[in-house]
Amino acid sequence: MFASCMNLGNLRFSALKDIAKNLVPATASRTLPRSMWTLPSSRPAQEAVITFDDVKDAERASSCILPTTWVDCPLVGSSQYNHDTYIFEFGLPDGKSLDLPTCACLLVRAFDKEGKEAVRPYTPISNNAMLGKFQLMIKVYEQGVVSQYCKNMKIGDVLSFKHITFNCKIRYPFGKKSITMCGGGSGITPMYQALQCLIDTPGDETDITLLLGNKSKADILLKDELDGMVARSNGRLKIVHVLSDANSLPNDWTGETGFIDKAKIEKYAYPAAPDTCVFVCGVPQMYEMLCGPRTEKEVKEGSILAQLGASL
Ligand SMILES: Cc1cc2nc3c(=O)[nH]c(=O)nc-3n(C[C@H](O)[C@H](O)[C@H](O)COP(=O)(O)OP(=O)(O)OC[C@H]3O[C@@H](n4cnc5c(N)ncnc54)[C@H](O)[C@@H]3O)c2cc1C
Repeated sequence: MFASCMNLGNLRFSALKDIAKNLVPATASRTLPRSMWTLPSSRPAQEAVITFDDVKDAERASSCILPTTWVDCPLVGSSQYNHDTYIFEFGLPDGKSLDLPTCACLLVRAFDKEGKEAVRPYTPISNNAMLGKFQLMIKVYEQGVVSQYCKNMKIGDVLSFKHITFNCKIRYPFGKKSITMCGGGSGITPMYQALQCLIDTPGDETDITLLLGNKSKADILLKDELDGMVARSNGRLKIVHVLSDANSLPNDWTGETGFIDKAKIEKYAYPAAPDTCVFVCGVPQMYEMLCGPRTEKEVKEGSILAQLGASL
């Protein structure tokens, strides 16, 4: 049923001013002197702060300003977005764009309470028009090593980032007539990055259906921004919300319930053709069910997308 399936390791953005307006402190960006940068408490004390000056000749995987080796960026702003999700702003050299290809992601390195390293991928919600900083939207889990580490950072604390070739799988323009997106929870961020280009690039005619899974309505991230995209897409973007928590369904809920499963994909996705593809980003269980781990090149045998004819 699908011409191809892409496990997104990556994706760009446009008008984030509304969701970013509550970031604090508003004036910290680009004006925080290096002498004020600090190591968060659980980062091993012997760790040095590696700046852009230290890595100016380092290898780069793409146009992205971040090298393939770790570099530290200071936290210059943060705000709470909803009950468990935050927007964090990290500083870049003055006037510089992150210049991340759409849709790529970054790697973040953090440490648990014992100082043990943890590395996770994150897709910025800011686009390359943003200069001197970039924004991550991070859902914080009670037991989450990296998300808790980020939540506990103070303005001026540094976080290590790098950008590697593996996380630069596909780039906009995607060259497809239509795209089915399956996103779960914070898995919306790569989709959002792609959608900013797909919807806001003049002349782009790609049709997109986004199946977006969340526990409850309160968990839907970037809802206003997505609604705005639907409204200005001239019918090119359709969003199907899927809520899994039957106990918190609003009385007037008109979307789907349960999970993004075979029946819903068969119902809403574009039929298989060489000019269509599927983007997937979500929790490990979602990858497992739909297509297999994102580290694999082939769609996993027996997975839902494999059953529906997807191939890479
Ligand atoms: C391409 C890509 C882009 C991503 N972009 C973003 C992004 O922009 N923003 C963002 O917030 N995340 C994003 N993620 C997810 C992110 O990489 C981490 O997996 C997530 O933040 C959890 O990491 P952690 O270290 O906090 O939790 P971990 O230490 O990995 O997990 C600890 C525990 O937290 C709970 N937990 C962790 N993840 C989940 C989950 N997804 N659902 C339910 N419980 C969970 C589980 O109980 C787990 O045992 C992205 C993932 C991919 C593959």
